[in-house]
Amino acid sequence: MSFQGAANQPGGELASPAGDGPPLFRVSQSPGKGMGLFATRDIKAGTVVLREKFTLSVPGKNNGGYSRLDLDAIVKLTLQYNNLSQDTRAELLQLHATPMPHRDADVRNLITAADRHAGVPPMGERAVETCQRIVGVWLTNGFLTSDERTGTCLFLKASRINHSCVANTARYFEKNDPRYITIRATRDIKADEEITLTYADALLPVAERQEKTRRVWHFTCACPACDPNDPAIDSAAHERDIRDLQSLENDPTPGSEASREELSAALERSSRRIELHQKLLSSPAQLATE
Ligand SMILES: [Zn+2]
Repeated sequence: MSFQGAANQPGGELASPAGDGPPLFRVSQSPGKGMGLFATRDIKAGTVVLREKFTLSVPGKNNGGYSRLDLDAIVKLTLQYNNLSQDTRAELLQLHATPMPHRDADVRNLITAADRHAGVPPMGERAVETCQRIVGVWLTNGFLTSDERTGTCLFLKASRINHSCVANTARYFEKNDPRYITIRATRDIKADEEITLTYADALLPVAERQEKTRRVWHFTCACPACDPNDPAIDSAAHERDIRDLQSLENDPTPGSEASREELSAALERSSRRIELHQKLLSSPAQLATE
């Protein structure tokens, strides 16, 4: 793949996943979670719910982490932002940015130092605040694409998808063109149901999932798997399945001296492992074909 600097290619395009039909989702309020994406009709497992090109991108191996924030990233983000349409800019600025005063101060200091070094007049207060907002939105919502050419990308619609430990979609970056994210249903989704993704590892025990969502994304997960009072899922049974799967993870492969009984027992444990994976991740058979 070859593409020029992202600053010349404002993103945010949506590719209709269902031919020319209307989008399968709408953006609406999600109680307790700000905005979210909701299905506009019944969606079958395996359907592409959303395919979207990035709006902002900072190439590199792992620059989504706050510790890697530098002037180069700020300049790249601001240049791309300036090339967006008014509507897209407004949509971007409405995305959530985790309040982080020390991050905002760092952005201000980097800009001020660069202006002083270049001998140009300092940037206006409003422009500095916009830069802080762009960086905050990108750091809060960016997806690490695992391709150095695209690095950490912001997708306007995909960013609206809230987390669940028992999500109904999974996300992919296209190998041939990692500028695009694809969101695919991993199980049937009912009309008006919220579309969800798993940010943390869905196969971790509840305490570890909760710790991770709090530490990295600054919220406490209250999804059906985390809330023991949610009737949608037997969270105790879900937790038992995760523990069972963990105990099977380190299962040794039987050696050449293994008896028939040992091989048979190992096969049974492997089958159980696959079964638990399918149950916990909805539909790994479909994921594997991506
Ligand atoms: Zn959860």
